[in-house]
Amino acid sequence: MTSLPVIPTLGEETISPNPAPDGEQLPITETFVSIQGEGKWTGVPSWFVRLAGCNLRCRWCDTPYSSWKPESTPRTLADLVREARESAVDHAVITGGEPLIFPQLAELARSLRDAGLRVTIETAGTVYQDLHADLMSISPKLASSTPSEIDAQARGGSADWAGPHGRHEQRRLNLDALQRLIDAHPNRQLKFVVCTEPDLIEIESLLAKLRNWQPADILLMPEGTSRPSAERMQWLARACIAHRWQYCTRLHVDIWGTKRGT
Ligand code: SF4
Repeated sequence: MTSLPVIPTLGEETISPNPAPDGEQLPITETFVSIQGEGKWTGVPSWFVRLAGCNLRCRWCDTPYSSWKPESTPRTLADLVREARESAVDHAVITGGEPLIFPQLAELARSLRDAGLRVTIETAGTVYQDLHADLMSISPKLASSTPSEIDAQARGGSADWAGPHGRHEQRRLNLDALQRLIDAHPNRQLKFVVCTEPDLIEIESLLAKLRNWQPADILLMPEGTSRPSAERMQWLARACIAHRWQYCTRLHVDIWGTKRGT
C-alpha cells in the first residue's frame, strides 16, 4: 500500500470544504460491502468507505489501521463513486478514522447522493463541516476512551496522545462542533461506547449541555470487540430503559466476529 501524508490540520472546530474535483484524491484505508452493523440503520446492505486518519486516538479503537497506524491508498472521488454505484447497494457509509477532517468529504457525500445512494457519515463529532448526509452518526468520546501511556505504547503510538493532558483528552469533546452537527442534521444519532457506570454519568452530564436532541437519538453500545456477556448486555439494557435511550448492537461482530472488511 502507498502511504499518503494523511492528516490535514487537526483539532479545528470547522473545516471549510472547497469544491473538490472528481480527480482529487482521498487517502482510503479500505472499501467493502457488508451490512450496517450499528445504529438506526442496522441491517441495511451498505457500501463502506473508510478514510485513513483521525484526530483522536481512542484506547479501544477497533480500527487502529485508520487511526493509530493509518494505512492508505490514494483514490479519486470519481473512482470511489463508480465503485459505490457498481456495488449494487443503495446505502453508503463514510467512516474512518475521522471523515470530517477531510475538506473533500462534502463533495464525496454529494457525489454519492447524486448517484442515488443514501449516505451515512460516521464521526466522533469534534469537527464541524457544512454538508449533507441522510444520517449523521455522531459518536462522542467519553473519558474512558483516553489512552494511558501503556495503551499508546501497545498501539505503537506516541505518548503525546496519552493521559489527562494528552492530545486525545484535549480534543475528544468539542461542544460547539457537536451542537452544530446536531442542529444541522435532523436525522442523527449520538452513539456512545460504554465501559462502566461512570460513563453513564458522563453521558448524562454531556447531554445536559446539549440542546435539540431526542431520547431516541441516544444509543448506547457496549465496549468490546466481541459479543458482550449476557450480564453486561442486561446492565446496559436497564440503563437504556431507565433513560428511554436505545441499546445498540454490533450486528456485524455477531455475524462475522472481528474480521476486517465486514
Ligand atoms: S475516533 Fe474512531 S477511528 Fe478515531 S481513534 Fe477513536 S474509535 Fe478510532
